[in-house]
Amino acid sequence: MHVLVLGAGQLARMMSLAGAPLNIEISAFDVGSENIVHPLTQTVIGNGLANAIEQADIITAEFEHIPHDVLEVCEQSGKFLPSAEAIKTGGDRRIEKALLDAAEVKNAKYAVIQTRADFDAAIESVGIPMVLKSALGGYDGKGQWRLKDIAQADAIWPEMEACIQASETQAIVAEEFVPFDREVSLVGARGKDGSVAVYPLAENVHTNGVLSLSTAIDNLELQQQAQQMFTAVANRLDYVGVLALEFFDVQGQLLVNEIAPRVHNSGHWTQQGAETCQFENHLRAVCGMPLGSTQLIRTTSMINILGEDTLPSEVLAMDGCHVHWYGKEQRTGRKMGHINVSAEYTAELQRKLCALADILDEEAFPAVHEFAQKHC
Ligand code: ATP
Ligand code: MG
Repeated sequence: MHVLVLGAGQLARMMSLAGAPLNIEISAFDVGSENIVHPLTQTVIGNGLANAIEQADIITAEFEHIPHDVLEVCEQSGKFLPSAEAIKTGGDRRIEKALLDAAEVKNAKYAVIQTRADFDAAIESVGIPMVLKSALGGYDGKGQWRLKDIAQADAIWPEMEACIQASETQAIVAEEFVPFDREVSLVGARGKDGSVAVYPLAENVHTNGVLSLSTAIDNLELQQQAQQMFTAVANRLDYVGVLALEFFDVQGQLLVNEIAPRVHNSGHWTQQGAETCQFENHLRAVCGMPLGSTQLIRTTSMINILGEDTLPSEVLAMDGCHVHWYGKEQRTGRKMGHINVSAEYTAELQRKLCALADILDEEAFPAVHEFAQKHC
């Protein structure tokens, strides 16, 4: 089986690693250069979307910000999963919000802004404090503003207006500020036959808008809420593949923040912590194979490696620690790889995270140090 992945980053790379034992071969399509590349070596093996489609049995995607004309061509080939609609939904906060409402899934109150009059109306209807997010193109907290006080509205409007005017299709979604206790996410797979298998929820810590620490948690009440919302969204999209839902936990009540129609950073822990990892399950789903068990086998945390290209050797030496590099050139703040740390039970995992805080640099791994301050 030959699967083409739109996007040639670390998610395609990890799909390639997970697909090999099943004889699933991955090629990656770099949407910017139109090169077909090997997902592990980045060696160029061809060029052009038509060639890429021709060679593939199945086409899927590792990110949602894909030009719509590319999505349409892929969809017309009859090989594309999950679907152009699902990818567009994940890439446009307006469509995403409409989907969440249609699926009757709780989410933050919102309004769409195109003009200053819309902005004033949103301040009335959504209320302050609010979070303002570009409808298209946002990731890792980029393209966002916070409005805490009405007096700031005039100051931030020029920036918002410039963002809206930068493209014909751009807009801003104003969202009520949610006073959440924590953020969690649910990663799961839906097969071609409509079967659904979800992983345990992960609790996520963000640092400067970027995911830094993600830990599988065991909470039956939240898990049931999340699974119900996952199934509602996945069924509504007639989804095939791995899908992620990000939530705010507000005193035990989950609200969906956003969806990602793909394998997700908060699911990387499944490589060591679950019976079948998210990358394998995505491939199983899109290739029409039975889904693999999503059962937790060892309690696991995932630590993102941001902007660093080396680690002290004590990390690899530690029992239960696995390092996954993405083979990328170093840049400040860039996701360069991740560490999965596993244990047989929660207290042991906490001890390992405490030991990692002693080894890892505080500036590069603030979330691990914050964890240590609270728990060690
Ligand atoms: P990513 O791609 O990393 O998931 P993103 O750029 O798509 O991020 P969001 O997930 O929507 O953006 O927002 C980034 C972070 O900002 C959230 O994880 C959360 O911490 C905070 N945030 C977003 N929306 C709200 C809100 N309505 N109320 C409070 N905090 C929010
Ligand atoms: Mg997010």
